[in-house]
Amino acid sequence: MKVCKFGGSSVADAAQVCKVCDIMLADRQRRVVVVSAPGKRGKSDTKVTDMLISLAEKALEGYDIDKDLEAIVERYASIQRDLGLDDAIAKEIADDLQTRVASDKSDRGAFLDLLKAAGEDNSAKLVAAALRKRGAAAAYVNPAKAGMLLEGEMGDATLCDVSYGFLHDSIERVLWQPDNPIVVFPGFFGVNRDGKITTFPRGGSDITGAILSAAMKAECYENFTDVDTVYAVDPRVVPDVHHGISEMTYREMRELAYAGFGVFHDEAVMPAFRAGIPINIRNTNHPEAPGTWIVPNRRVDSCKVVGIASDSDFVHVYVDKYMMNREVGFGRKLLQIFEEEGVAFEHMPTGIDNITLILRGSKFPPDVQDRVLRRIKSDLKPDNIICERDHALIMVVGEGMQHTVGTAARATRALAEGGVNIELINQDASEISIMFGVRESERAKAVQVLYHEFFA
Ligand code: ASP
Repeated sequence: MKVCKFGGSSVADAAQVCKVCDIMLADRQRRVVVVSAPGKRGKSDTKVTDMLISLAEKALEGYDIDKDLEAIVERYASIQRDLGLDDAIAKEIADDLQTRVASDKSDRGAFLDLLKAAGEDNSAKLVAAALRKRGAAAAYVNPAKAGMLLEGEMGDATLCDVSYGFLHDSIERVLWQPDNPIVVFPGFFGVNRDGKITTFPRGGSDITGAILSAAMKAECYENFTDVDTVYAVDPRVVPDVHHGISEMTYREMRELAYAGFGVFHDEAVMPAFRAGIPINIRNTNHPEAPGTWIVPNRRVDSCKVVGIASDSDFVHVYVDKYMMNREVGFGRKLLQIFEEEGVAFEHMPTGIDNITLILRGSKFPPDVQDRVLRRIKSDLKPDNIICERDHALIMVVGEGMQHTVGTAARATRALAEGGVNIELINQDASEISIMFGVRESERAKAVQVLYHEFFA
């Protein structure tokens, strides 16, 4: 059995929903489909989830929301009309939204999540109706009733492990009904122990798909979006990129995602990763394309480097003290200051007499920076301390590097020939990636020269 997930652009209008139905009906193994809320139909359009958030915020402030509500109802009604579905569905969606808007507003987070969840919930009802119109049996399944139990903060929830068993049993019960329906499941939300609708972080329908794949022990998780392949580098940085990744391992994806690769939110793949389920990223608009596979293991062939990612906004805190290597507890005391200020560090390359801590700029605001630097100076008495913002990290990723001599040499030579100054190099013992620290102003050039070295 395959679990499929379709993102917002795949259900943005009736024509897209037709493609979803075609894809689902083309393969009898596709038994469970997870859908997002309708996304943008064009560059200047607004996603239904964003419309719902703005509606909820206005309702909380006591503003008039009639126009906003009407616009959301119309997004669904236009899909219903263009698909030739019964008017009753649009009416049901309008009533559902009215009920949500009129509900208790005393808990702001709960009210926002209830409204956000309406996007995928009603999208699933429409897709189920569209499949039925095509003659297929299809059943909408409500995540709260099926046992998608979540915990943690509203808008940032995580799954309770007991849910896997509940979800498996609820979905099996539907799949085994006499007419063998396709299960249509809304993404993005579940219910907490107080019975309140709760959502995952934004983009969370990917998480729902991965959870259902694991719960159903699916043969694979097909994640449909609007690209033919995941490119080896970000096309915004290297516009002439032509090299797609046909297969990568979970570990490679994690390394690339860490450095800003927009494949998946790392958290989204965890349930599928734990269950060892292969993920296939595919294009709704071009279903013939094989897409990109993310697999537990792969045979490493001539393609040693699978991808190059880069991310901005890193801060370097460089601490230098003569004979630091003899001072017992120096590293612990330094890290303790960061811990007590609630700042996580990303990397910590060291020299004989120095340590550099690399942090995400967004997690190290200027007021915290001032406090931390003052404490380092007074508690550790370093000879020198330098804090610099606007650094970038480049990750060259590939499992095959373990068995290949010279990848680091090729990368450093390419950077040198491109005139890029490397500020820092790091390769851990797993040898799955090499990390380079460069100035933000040199980030794009660094990625370009590395791409041409390894892929052109
Ligand atoms: N609709 C939600 C969002 O826009 C969740 C998703 O599409 O995955 O974030």
